[in-house]
Amino acid sequence: MSTKYIFVTGGVTSSLGKGIICSSLGRLLVAQGLKVTVQKLDPYINVDPGTMNPYEHGEVYVTDDGAETDLDLGHYERFLDITTSQSNNVTTGRIYYDVIMKERQGAYLGKTVQVIPHITDEIQSHVLKLGQSGDYDVVIVEIGGTVGDIESLPYIEAVRQLRYNVGRQNTLSIHLTLVPYLAAAGELKTKPTQHSVKTLSESGLQPDILVCRSEYPLDETIRRKVAQFCNVDLEDVIESRDARSIYEVPLLMQKEGLDQRVIKKLKLKTSEPELDNWIGFVEAVCNPSGEITIALVGKYVEHHDSYKSIVEAFIHSGAVNDCKVNIKWVQSDNLTRENVKDELKGVAGVLVAPGFGGRGISGKLAAVEHARTNSIPFFGICLGMQCAVIEFARDVCGWDKANSTEFDENTEHPIIDIMHDQKNIENMGGTMRLGKYTCKLKKGSKAHEAYGEEVVDERHRHRYEVNNNLRYKLTENGMVLSGMNPERDLVEIVELPDHPWFVGVQFHPELRSTVNNPQPLFVDFVKASLKHAKSSKLYKSIKKEKVAAGKS
Ligand code: GLN
Repeated sequence: MSTKYIFVTGGVTSSLGKGIICSSLGRLLVAQGLKVTVQKLDPYINVDPGTMNPYEHGEVYVTDDGAETDLDLGHYERFLDITTSQSNNVTTGRIYYDVIMKERQGAYLGKTVQVIPHITDEIQSHVLKLGQSGDYDVVIVEIGGTVGDIESLPYIEAVRQLRYNVGRQNTLSIHLTLVPYLAAAGELKTKPTQHSVKTLSESGLQPDILVCRSEYPLDETIRRKVAQFCNVDLEDVIESRDARSIYEVPLLMQKEGLDQRVIKKLKLKTSEPELDNWIGFVEAVCNPSGEITIALVGKYVEHHDSYKSIVEAFIHSGAVNDCKVNIKWVQSDNLTRENVKDELKGVAGVLVAPGFGGRGISGKLAAVEHARTNSIPFFGICLGMQCAVIEFARDVCGWDKANSTEFDENTEHPIIDIMHDQKNIENMGGTMRLGKYTCKLKKGSKAHEAYGEEVVDERHRHRYEVNNNLRYKLTENGMVLSGMNPERDLVEIVELPDHPWFVGVQFHPELRSTVNNPQPLFVDFVKASLKHAKSSKLYKSIKKEKVAAGKS
């Protein structure tokens, strides 16, 4: 069977949840035995989102191969249980960069280099590369932006050509659109969808399936109207209402028959859907026995998308523990040693978040100290782990000016520093430790217990490390270095054995948490927080609803 391509465009407005629709369709196809991947085409000119401010673009999602990518790739991994790579995220910046490089090398043999055909050819080759790998039955391609945007045009044209080149029977065009409800008229309006489909058709791309986001059910009349004016079959008008959780969307899409329409149109060979685990998970998310609150201390807390994977990892690990995890967003800038007790009142656990730069560090150190000295479960991720090490060096080891050279280059005790071999890498242009690295766990440690394995792989995105020349001071004072990178002898995990749960990790465990494989440290952290909540009367039980998953 040759690889099939499904292109997903969005119309009317942004933020309709294209990433979730692509991921949900992907999950349904995977559940029916197909090998699927999802690719995101982003129309912006940055080569990748690595340099973008989290306020601007949300979290930078890092893949195993060290690519800094769009946060939608996180959804693809969490829903489909796949690993993505640099090839799964293509930006206009990257396309132009590659084309300009080729032009400089004379690859175009003196021709005038133009959007059509050179840019559109380059886009096609990036899409086909995934399909031609032979690894997938289906490649779902999410086209970023909204139909009608100037910057989306080369992508739409590339898709039009690609459909022609690989054969219409091997491709499908799905358009995600909005059917708004006008309160004054008391009805749903189809005109924006008609216009969006018209714009798409003018570019030569007729949708095969319309997924209509709506706050109300689409009745037969509305469906017929959409079908007739947008030139699709009635069964190809799919309603997508708001769900209780994004993880319920695959089940709602299955109920609407999206997967069956796709399977039929592309003549895919499938097996019986296996969704038991998924349904159980959605039940657990929507119907937990109780709830706890965990503080997330960071400096981008006004913009929750900056911590997207952490939020999702809490949903996965909460479900395992039959408990909803509410997040208390704590701005580290406002936190001091004086107010930390009040600010963190009532929380069952404290997570200090990843980040860059010196702003808010003293607040993060106050949060670490509060959790450490009050036996509140603590989880430090990347910068959060570095803060835990700095706090320990200052308050337990007595190096009261200990710091990271990221914040104080001349500190007397640079307990966090750029390692010597990393400096050499920096000179060659690669400034960060990015992507998957091995971590060997110390037997009997909390990390070892949580993972149940001795060697694990986790993803990184940082420049600084625990200083190997000074780390003796930490262990002398009781900190356990429970995870080490064997190749470069770098500290990956620190723990305090005389604390109920105090773990700091140099890597980003949140990036590997999926519905079917919740991240073990998150699961254990929530378990410890739940225990703390129960013993400190911070746990609230919830009365179970009797609503089955997918049956809202
Ligand atoms: N700023 C720190 C470093 O570069 C931590 C990075 C992070 O939290 N991702 O090492």
